[in-house]
Amino acid sequence: MEKHPGSLCRNPHTLSTWKGQELYFLRMQRNREKMEREKVERELNQGKKKLRVCVATCNRADYSKLAPIMFGIKSHPEEFELEVVVLGSHLIDDYGNTFRMIEQDNFDIGSKLHTIVRGEDEAAMVESVGLALVKLPDVLQRLQPDILVVHGDRFDALALATAAALMNIRILHLEGGEVSGTIDDSIRHAISKLAHYHACCTRMAEQHLIAMCEDHSRILLAGCPSYDKLLSSHHREDYMDIIRSWLGDKVQNNDYIVALQHPVTTDIQHSIKIYGLMLDALLSFNKRTLILFPNIDAGSKEMVRVMRKKGIEQHPNFRAVKHIPFEQFIQLVCHAGCMIGNSSCGVREAGAFGTPVINLGTRQTGRETGENVLHVRDADTHNKIYHALELQFGKRYPGSKIYGDGHAVPRILKFLRTIDLDEPLQKTFCFPPVKDSISQDIDHILETQSALSVDLGGTNLRVAIICMKGSIVKKYSEHNPTTFEDRMHLILQMCKTAIQDAVCLNCRILGVGISTGGRVNPQEGVVLHSTKLIQEWSSVNLRTPISDALGLPVWVDNDGNCAALAERKFGHGKGVENFVTVITGTGIGGGIIHHYELIHGSTFCAAELGHVIVSLEGPECSCGSRGCIEAYASGLALQREAKRLNDEDLLKVEGMDVKLSEPITAAHLISAARMGNSKADAVLRKASSALGVGIVNILHIVNPSLVILSGVLASYYKEPVQHIISQRALASAQTIKVVTSDLEEPALLGAASMVLDYATRRTY
Ligand SMILES: [Zn+2]
Repeated sequence: MEKHPGSLCRNPHTLSTWKGQELYFLRMQRNREKMEREKVERELNQGKKKLRVCVATCNRADYSKLAPIMFGIKSHPEEFELEVVVLGSHLIDDYGNTFRMIEQDNFDIGSKLHTIVRGEDEAAMVESVGLALVKLPDVLQRLQPDILVVHGDRFDALALATAAALMNIRILHLEGGEVSGTIDDSIRHAISKLAHYHACCTRMAEQHLIAMCEDHSRILLAGCPSYDKLLSSHHREDYMDIIRSWLGDKVQNNDYIVALQHPVTTDIQHSIKIYGLMLDALLSFNKRTLILFPNIDAGSKEMVRVMRKKGIEQHPNFRAVKHIPFEQFIQLVCHAGCMIGNSSCGVREAGAFGTPVINLGTRQTGRETGENVLHVRDADTHNKIYHALELQFGKRYPGSKIYGDGHAVPRILKFLRTIDLDEPLQKTFCFPPVKDSISQDIDHILETQSALSVDLGGTNLRVAIICMKGSIVKKYSEHNPTTFEDRMHLILQMCKTAIQDAVCLNCRILGVGISTGGRVNPQEGVVLHSTKLIQEWSSVNLRTPISDALGLPVWVDNDGNCAALAERKFGHGKGVENFVTVITGTGIGGGIIHHYELIHGSTFCAAELGHVIVSLEGPECSCGSRGCIEAYASGLALQREAKRLNDEDLLKVEGMDVKLSEPITAAHLISAARMGNSKADAVLRKASSALGVGIVNILHIVNPSLVILSGVLASYYKEPVQHIISQRALASAQTIKVVTSDLEEPALLGAASMVLDYATRRTY
């Protein structure tokens, strides 16, 4: 690897023979490498046409970025033909006739185009673009470049890009994708959209270009070309000579200011005001100051007038100049005590040296900057600017490489070599995938429109996100708290979590559906009364507080009714006009669908199927009555009987595995009966008969076409219930079918169906 040229002379002891030897070897090695490289390239280029690259430069600022590339192209004459077009303020006396720099750098200028209409206001800028557009086609026609290299965001560059794009000439745009302030942003992005290839400086800029739908394969993250020279040669030994030649013999390193403020074309009056304030602050700060004339943008004439009015040109502390050669300017910035103004050099190049910078106003808003930059965005008082000078002057910051690592030119040349002229000129715009809008795509509606379901049971409090298709997208479960306050708090907390998750899961929550034990007034969203299974749960208004807290509509119904709604929307009840659902779980509940609608009754206790009474003197029920089917056939009732048998030592049969520690449940009773325990069997027969007779009563009242059994005991009860119906029902009710539910979560799904049916009915 090559050593950094500067590192050879850093230590004076290595300057003698060592240095001579090392330099000799280095030179030899370089020559060898160069010969090998040329050989390989000759072989590669045999029969390959040279790429005609046209570089167009408009002013000293863009030339400082373009020159390193021009040198790079020129040093590979076997691959590239270079054409140079000069236009814009390069050719204007007031701006230092900077085209001479190009001549001094030994480039042949193919065309000089006078394109600036004098006047320095907005209209003159537009006329200048027009003039360039009139003159450019001739030149481009004559030069016939394969590719035009355009830099940055100046109005001249917009004219260049427009002409080339319309003439089907490929464009490589440098420094696209960056964000500053002012009209520059619009021009820069417009040029990016006209350009076919991009060499950008920062990772952020690369991301912006991708976001602008530019083809990623045509974007090169190169770094800023001016950094190549900057990072390899800014340690010049003669820097004090350069500084003294511009600022006088008495000036010290790090003890002068470089000021460069341009007009902001979108707010000319304000930028002229800031200019005046900056000059006042510099006058009071009383340090040697090198001030550059503003660029040619609209407003620059007024700024020069302000400068003259304050006597800057005659002031002993100031040196006002129109142009400084870039290499010298770099030395001046590198060793300045501070740089002030709004030039891009301040936020970019100065960062590489760690020179303190004060950035005034909005011209560079949005630019990525190193820590060396102090922004004074509202530069509305001279005091503010003065304080900034006090803070920054004479400081030193670590150098930043945001804008480049010093290898931009080799990268750009490599990129140019890969350009395939047979590739179609038509740009492809890489749009990010866009989903159809919700109201037009039924699949999208089914997958995204969702409900938040809450199920309040005796043991658990559960929340779920359920989509229109009826699938449970996400489920949450907690122990149901025993007090009203804790329960309400937990419901809201779980709902809020679910709402947040829904965003990530691409679910649009339409509302909240609540299924709860107890009697419910669904019209008002109030739990009227609940059994002791859920404590502190009577006269509870659920709708208002939850709706207020979540900002969503809320529906409430009891768990039996919800199970019926779930069957109607997602289960066996789909399309069935009249059916009954009976849930056999810890308790027994149910719902009746009549003419496709739930029956609620006059005081909301219709379909309390668990409390259908089948015997006058039956066992006690949780409702306080006797002989309800819940008191015979519910999980709790069977557990009670199992415990009684177990206490009398009548439950266990041979081969049945019951551990002492294990709580006795209905499951033990069922397995004992299956293994031949006649007492257990008798209990279950009685339970089945009670349930069956209860259901026969229901059939005789509402005469449905279908009975759906759900809950943990459903599959056990199906056969006996069907049997009892066939024996005990009236002849015309005997053929009514009994099925078991396929739904895993009837209560949650039913709660969701209230939201999905009612909310969408309102939406559409
Ligand atoms: Zn009861």
